[in-house]
Amino acid sequence: MTRKPMMAGNWKMNNTIPEAVVLTQEIANHYNKDWHNVEVVLCTPFTDLKPTFTVLEFDRVEAKVAAQNVYWEEKGAFTGEISVRMIKDAGCSYSIVGHSERREMFGETDETVNRKVKALIAGGLGAIVCVGESLAVRDEGSTIDFICAQVRAGLAGLESSDVAKCVIAYEPIWAIGTGRSATPEQAEEACRAIRGTVQDMFGSEIAEGIRVLYGGSMNVGNVEVLMAQSNIDGGLVGGASLEAKSFVQLIEACK
Ligand code: PEP
Repeated sequence: MTRKPMMAGNWKMNNTIPEAVVLTQEIANHYNKDWHNVEVVLCTPFTDLKPTFTVLEFDRVEAKVAAQNVYWEEKGAFTGEISVRMIKDAGCSYSIVGHSERREMFGETDETVNRKVKALIAGGLGAIVCVGESLAVRDEGSTIDFICAQVRAGLAGLESSDVAKCVIAYEPIWAIGTGRSATPEQAEEACRAIRGTVQDMFGSEIAEGIRVLYGGSMNVGNVEVLMAQSNIDGGLVGGASLEAKSFVQLIEACK
């Protein structure tokens, strides 16, 4: 089965609305029809979602917008939270869930990841579910067990048809924002194990169809060798997505 690659830029807590509009417009200026072969996703701060979506829509650029987090309740007294319906209304097709920065700094757990994934699916959106090990876990040789347990917990209780709307991003914590990417072999081993876990849970057809991304210091220098791995279907990219030039090169490398 051929899987359409995904190149997702995670802007993190960067870009005011005018900055988001400029960056999106710069990316849009490079748009060409070949991007049809790649699913391009801009994961922006909440405040940038609608303006980013509007620029893409106005320029008829085939790219999608995603949130970086979402809450599972539909509405009500949850000060500071944003619902699935709200991000959908702002133009989102996906939300990132379980990014390691949210797990480490904001108390995200496997259980809350699972609740968010279910809420996204119920609301008609897709989930980009992040998993990844710390350096300590890698050094003790437990990487594969650790990330596969995260996948099991994140996708627990889903129907097979729901899993088809999920994308898994393997992001070793020690590679995020450090300039030290996983080697292609390390990344492929992890992504292969993730696909194997999806196969155990939901069968081979779903496993063959699901996209598994690599994230962690992906850049124009390493994207091609990472994308050449058979179980890597794209990237979730932080730093290199903040400049149009590098992000466009990453998109071009996925085509
Ligand atoms: C990320 O934040 O998901 C990420 C992979 O960041 P970077 O590309 O900067 O390592």
